[in-house]
Amino acid sequence: MSQLIAGNWKMNGVAAALSEIDALAVSLTDRPAACDVLVCPPATLIERASHVSRNRIALGGQDCHAEISGAFTGDVSAEMLRDAGATAVIVGHSERRQYHGETDAVVAAKAKAAWRAGLTAIICIGETEAERDSGKANDICKSQLAGSVPDGATSANTAIAYEPVWAIGTGKTPTSEEIAQMHAHIKAHIPAGLRILYGGSVKPANAVEILALADVGGALVGGASLKASDFLTIVRACRKSS
Ligand code: PEP
Repeated sequence: MSQLIAGNWKMNGVAAALSEIDALAVSLTDRPAACDVLVCPPATLIERASHVSRNRIALGGQDCHAEISGAFTGDVSAEMLRDAGATAVIVGHSERRQYHGETDAVVAAKAKAAWRAGLTAIICIGETEAERDSGKANDICKSQLAGSVPDGATSANTAIAYEPVWAIGTGKTPTSEEIAQMHAHIKAHIPAGLRILYGGSVKPANAVEILALADVGGALVGGASLKASDFLTIVRACRKSS
């Protein structure tokens, strides 16, 4: 399966930022990517982004509620994301787990909601720095997988994003050996064929090395996805065949 390069804009971007998606789409129209490309802008921009993505860039949400509709002020359902033009949604990002108290069970319910709406769920897991320093990274990730990935996950409806919390937005990354080791560990605990993305300070300068690693099925990119030129460099770093 080809690699997936996914951009997570987090809470960044108003209408002016659509020019970045437009510029990326123009570049990919001139020379298509060897991988799947997904951008997850704020939910408010998904529908407008769909007008400039030129079918070269898939669009996704950054979170969804588990229910279809109801009295959940401020929340957005997976069906609403789909209606706006999304084909995927990130669930269980560490910022959701940390700032919104999302448990593995909540993340699993959101992944099921994504499937119900016909979206691919990108389920995030990853250890904190303290957990890695105390030798617990493997156990933490295994436990998060067991709790967050519902039965029924397939390569068609789910990708896993391994995002060490201490690497997100910090400029720090695990070594290549550590990434390869953890991806092999994750692979052993999920259904066959699911893409396992690496996320955490992926930049134009380290993308080639990370994306060449065994069992790395793509990247989830935060800061470096905001500028089309940086993101394009990462997209161009994907493996040609995998
Ligand atoms: C992320 O937000 O998922 C992420 C990986 O961020 P960054 O690339 O900025 O570390």
